[in-house]
Amino acid sequence: MFRFYSFLPRKTVAGESSNTPALHRPMGTVMSEVRNVIIIGSGPAGYTAGLYAGRAMLNPLMFAGYMSGGQLMLTSDIENFPGYPEGIAGPEMMMQLREQAERFGLEVQDRNVDEVDVSQRPFKVMVEGETYLTHSIIVCTGAESVWLNAPGEAEQKGRGISTCATCDGAFFRDEHVLVIGGGDSACEEATFLTRFASKVTLIHRRDVFKASTIMYERAANNPKIEIRTFRQIKEWLSDDKGLTGAVLENTQDGTTETIEATGAFIAIGHTPITDFLGGQVETDANGYIVHKEHTMTSVPGVFAAGDVVDTRYKQAITAAGMGCSAAIDVEKWLEENVH
Ligand code: NDP
Repeated sequence: MFRFYSFLPRKTVAGESSNTPALHRPMGTVMSEVRNVIIIGSGPAGYTAGLYAGRAMLNPLMFAGYMSGGQLMLTSDIENFPGYPEGIAGPEMMMQLREQAERFGLEVQDRNVDEVDVSQRPFKVMVEGETYLTHSIIVCTGAESVWLNAPGEAEQKGRGISTCATCDGAFFRDEHVLVIGGGDSACEEATFLTRFASKVTLIHRRDVFKASTIMYERAANNPKIEIRTFRQIKEWLSDDKGLTGAVLENTQDGTTETIEATGAFIAIGHTPITDFLGGQVETDANGYIVHKEHTMTSVPGVFAAGDVVDTRYKQAITAAGMGCSAAIDVEKWLEENVH
């Protein structure tokens, strides 16, 4: 039984739920039209690429995924995107970005891409048994949450352990919850969870936080949040009703202690979504797509933007900026290579 919204059955943009290996499924219906550009993924990078490609009259097609909008659909308030002095909710911003891009001709399909074939042009983009042909592709599939994979975690996924406070925080009214991590995500999730939980314990393996000062201080100054440093989860504890707590290990001296909690949120970073590319586009050791020339990847005609590339900044505004660059690069590349 799933307790959480974030565990309702769903597929991601990149078709991670597909069990069939890439390039081994039949092509099904092949569309006759060769598109100028297909954008895969629908966060700020994808929508901005769509906006620019639309205004450049490239008639762009986007596969936005079943859960369109990317990670910001799971973000409560965005306070650092210029132009929103009062802040804006993540889903609302994604809706506005989509509307703006559609106004200039972006065609959006809320479907997942299963795989691509970029071994020859036109490229093939396979979606639910249909094959779309395109001169160029912009990959904007972003990244997905990393799990700790501590003993006992698998059994509690969707019951007591989540990676999305925005989705699942309301299930923990007046309960004690743990948040694991020391970055902006962990501080943001901890602060958000104080709306529901009676107490939030933020657990971090060091005493130095990657989080920005403002996010850290907001969490540190919240009376409902206790911060435990030099601690990591050694094991999750549960009974037949769900999570009951965890065994914490001191990362300095190895001693252990038990902490009681009925919910936990893991916020230890993200990993790029590239499986659907089937290894055809060069990535670094951590799976991030590598830019070769401006926003172009190792495959001429395939471009990438946003968190799927970004090992450093990972902000909505930097993703949007890179989406803009990718669309401009596509326009120039099409002029020089296709039209
Ligand atoms: P980060 O990579 O910034 O932080 C990950 C944290 O998790 C680090 O503190 C890291 O510890 C810890 N961690 C990683 N692996 C483990 C592990 N196995 N066990 C225990 N702890 C672990 O990721 P975030 O998701 O927090 O942020 C990613 C990006 O998104 C950042 O650029 C951030 O600024 C941005 N962001 C911005 C927000 C905003 O502005 N509203 C909100 C959320 C994210 P250690 O420090 O020891 O490596």
